[in-house]
Amino acid sequence: MLYERLGSSELSISKLSLGTWVTFGYQLDVEAAYPIFKRAYELGINFFDCAETYAQGKAEQLLGQVFRKGEAEGIWSREDLILSTKIFFGSTAKPSRTAQGLSRKHIVEGTRASLRRLGLEHVDLLYAHRPDPATPIEETVRAFGHCVEQGMAHYWGTSEWEAAQIAEACRIADRLGLPRPTMEQPQYNMFHRKPVEQEYAPFFTGADGWRLGLTTWSPLYSGVLSGKYSGGRVPEDSRLSIERYSFLKERAFADSGRVLDAVDRLTPIAEQLGCSLSQLAIAWCAANPNVSSVILGASKMKQLEENVHALEVVPKLSAEVRRRIDQVITPELQQ
Ligand code: NDP
Repeated sequence: MLYERLGSSELSISKLSLGTWVTFGYQLDVEAAYPIFKRAYELGINFFDCAETYAQGKAEQLLGQVFRKGEAEGIWSREDLILSTKIFFGSTAKPSRTAQGLSRKHIVEGTRASLRRLGLEHVDLLYAHRPDPATPIEETVRAFGHCVEQGMAHYWGTSEWEAAQIAEACRIADRLGLPRPTMEQPQYNMFHRKPVEQEYAPFFTGADGWRLGLTTWSPLYSGVLSGKYSGGRVPEDSRLSIERYSFLKERAFADSGRVLDAVDRLTPIAEQLGCSLSQLAIAWCAANPNVSSVILGASKMKQLEENVHALEVVPKLSAEVRRRIDQVITPELQQ
């Protein structure tokens, strides 16, 4: 495993990490999840990601149970792990107006509720899961500063914020003497590149002594880049077969299957490198030096075991290999 500093912090985060979206609450119970998380930790993964909204709070409960099981078995202690949650969407099917968003009220009360579900005194990383146009950024910066000050979180960050919003949060934090966001959590994969590669570029120079950390999500575009949906087949036990996530299937199958066709055309590149499509796609994300940690998802042990070997593929991603990938994943297919 490789480790990176998370942005300008001293926090040492594993280059690959493991999330709980979809899997916790819809696919795995604690008996099934624990061996995967334990194996992930044994393989060097130290960051596990969650959110208040995942399975309406059930994912946090499960992550808490997984943590306590590993602690009881002497696998890890709280200090060994970087645990996160994200606040914005609320934790019920239909949250009231005050139980969602980035008001001080929801940030503080939502974080307390998340900690109760997790059974933890603090999370390491606390994210604003989306920007909230209805709340002044100053209120949000003050509220996250309060959570850090109160020991509910060690670092705060954003997820899917525009560069201008992150820049404003930094200016406000500086003016108020509060912590800047340490990290952003954007989608990043071969199909979704622009925020990471273009919009956030000014945040990686370190020019004013601060660098943004990045914990990126959906490296496999929800499993599509594994190639398992080739020919439009949807395996029964896969994410795209889950009714609730039908929008992911529609996205993958849109435009007469252009996305699926492109994934098929990556196969010879992976074969030549001696790796699987999943490993190629994850390596492609991890190869970006501005990415602190690539958050993986795994519903099965064998996926995790396969995916962690992606780091061995990173040195093989020559300029020529990248050119071939870009000939397949053309700009029209990218966001
Ligand atoms: P991926 O795009 O990597 O998708 C993971 C899923 O792909 C797995 O659950 C599994 O689904 C399938 N898969 C994984 N490996 C393989 C393999 N080797 N072969 C075949 N199928 C495979 O990541 P996620 O979309 O899960 O995102 C990762 C994490 O990022 C989330 O858990 C969450 O913590 C975070 N996230 C954050 C968001 C945000 O807004 N901040 C939004 C979304 C995610 P299956 O077996 O069911 O098909």
